[in-house]
Amino acid sequence: EQVAEQALARTRELEHLGARLSHELKNPLAAIKALVQLSSRSTADPEARENLQTVEAEAERMRDVLDEYLSFSRPLDKIRAEPLSLGSLTDEALAVMSGRAEEAGLALRRTGDADLVADPRRLKEALLNLVANAIEATPSGGSVDVALSRDRDAVVIAVRDTGKGMPGDVLERVGTPFFTTREEGTGLGVLLARAIFTQHGGGLRYESAPGKGTTAIATLRAAPSTRSDDHVQVAAGG
Ligand code: ADP
Repeated sequence: EQVAEQALARTRELEHLGARLSHELKNPLAAIKALVQLSSRSTADPEARENLQTVEAEAERMRDVLDEYLSFSRPLDKIRAEPLSLGSLTDEALAVMSGRAEEAGLALRRTGDADLVADPRRLKEALLNLVANAIEATPSGGSVDVALSRDRDAVVIAVRDTGKGMPGDVLERVGTPFFTTREEGTGLGVLLARAIFTQHGGGLRYESAPGKGTTAIATLRAAPSTRSDDHVQVAAGG
């Protein structure tokens, strides 16, 4: 519980950083991108054109990183919960990732279902992060399975991959701010996902062994959906 609270507190610090950064940098970045794009179209010099296209691509990458920080700048306390089918929501997230999975030569599947009251946008964001990490870590021919189940008052989302797994020192640090082993990583994905599950009265933990794959196990409080009265209250209050 204390760990969850610490994660949330850290995430709040990142909210401020994220808001500040994106505010200061997004507009100038958009200007750079637009002008570079314009110049690359109007130049006849192939080398200059190629360079300008590279600048444009790099500006785009910077914008993507900022977007990830921006995820933290939305007020975390305000979740817009509504009754939903986790199965459908998961399928939407998997549809977004299907191209990447196919390119990587992976099977991407969902099993099980559960109804609950949750914030669909945030939940999808969390799911996308977990599935993206699983795809990232798994070599061709492997699989990424998202299993949904209900365990008393909790809904459990298990994202299991047959990827490279995590050695002990990585497993210890996964989800701490800015921890990444990827060259292009931000080290914010798991932190954000964990904050979202924590907001939903649950949490996120990992089981992993090098060479044997990884399972991310997320829990959410499911109780509200078992009483139909709460649906109206939560949805109207959000
Ligand atoms: P990023 O994806 O930007 O690196 P994350 O917070 O999403 O940031 O992940 C942090 C690190 O945790 C990754 O760089 C990777 O080393 C490790 N990790 C996360 N998920 C997995 C997974 N499914 N399999 C192996 N390693 C993982």
